Amino acid sequence: MKAALLTAPRQFEIKEVPDPKIVNDADVLIRIKTVGVCGSDMHYYTTGRIGSQIVQYPFIVGHEAAGVVEKIGNGVTRVRPGQRIAIEPAVSCGKCDQCKSGRENTCRKLRFLGAPQQLDGAQCEYVVLPQENCFPIIESMTFEQATLCEPLAIAVYAVERSPLADGASAAILGVGPIGMSVFHVLRTRNVRSVCVTDKIDARLEAARKLSPKWAGNPDRVDVIKEIGEIEPFQMDVIYECSGDQAAISQAVQLLKPGGTLMIVGIPEVDEVSFLIHELRRKEITIVNVRRQNHCTQKAIDLLTSRKINMDSLVTHRFPLEETPKAFDLVANYRDGVMKTMIRID
Ligand SMILES: [Zn+2]
Ligand SMILES: [Zn+2]
Repeated sequence: MKAALLTAPRQFEIKEVPDPKIVNDADVLIRIKTVGVCGSDMHYYTTGRIGSQIVQYPFIVGHEAAGVVEKIGNGVTRVRPGQRIAIEPAVSCGKCDQCKSGRENTCRKLRFLGAPQQLDGAQCEYVVLPQENCFPIIESMTFEQATLCEPLAIAVYAVERSPLADGASAAILGVGPIGMSVFHVLRTRNVRSVCVTDKIDARLEAARKLSPKWAGNPDRVDVIKEIGEIEPFQMDVIYECSGDQAAISQAVQLLKPGGTLMIVGIPEVDEVSFLIHELRRKEITIVNVRRQNHCTQKAIDLLTSRKINMDSLVTHRFPLEETPKAFDLVANYRDGVMKTMIRID
């Protein structure tokens, strides 16, 4: 099969590699149709790592994917050949303490599609995954929509994990694809107001279409002062989706006493700091969001029922052969890029 191999930082080669094989009875061979380019892929692309997860070259990235079932193992009952599916990229062991307590997303033996030394990713023609990772979609759902279910599931999980009372005030710091997905989910909830920040004006423009109470660029305006003027009692919940140190500090300042900081973004650095006195005086709760847990079907349902439409998030499309171009575009935030899709035909 054809695959986009990451062979060094910022370097791809499109090459023929052996097809993956069905090994276990529960395995499904999937023909990939679309793969989304994710911010986390960018870390592997530009620096070759996220924390202790270090890429060994050559490596196939990509975890936001959808496709068609090509072949199934003897024990597969969940899907059949020809069926169109969304993919849940996390393969958990089902046996460890975490899995047994329903925390499959922090499984001790978790293997994640397109994560170094775990599983090769989906920027190729075929992948093999257990049947539990295959989610059938209806005929009218496009492969792009099915691919968007992965970031949307993270947003569903982030909102589920947050203590969001009726009429709460919320802010999203960083409205890239994940922040925008959180915004879409918040719009299905009874939230009084949503304020958003981003350093990229094109992203603020996209967010403005979802009617935030306030949207601004922290490079140009005093975010604390301006949001403080319209929300004098400050925020109940903040979704930090940028991974940026300055945004984390702004979040602590923007939260009301007893507020909750949801850490959703992935920092590029190994350590971040907190304004400890403000954090403790206000008794801020910090909640980390590790990808998602049991939210793939919920994300599919939100798109299927048309409660959420995220089609406009997709700004760019490339064939597999142009993977280098796609990653270069996303890494440099060029052309108002939000979500880029790689199409494989
Ligand atoms: Zn992702
Ligand atoms: Zn486990």
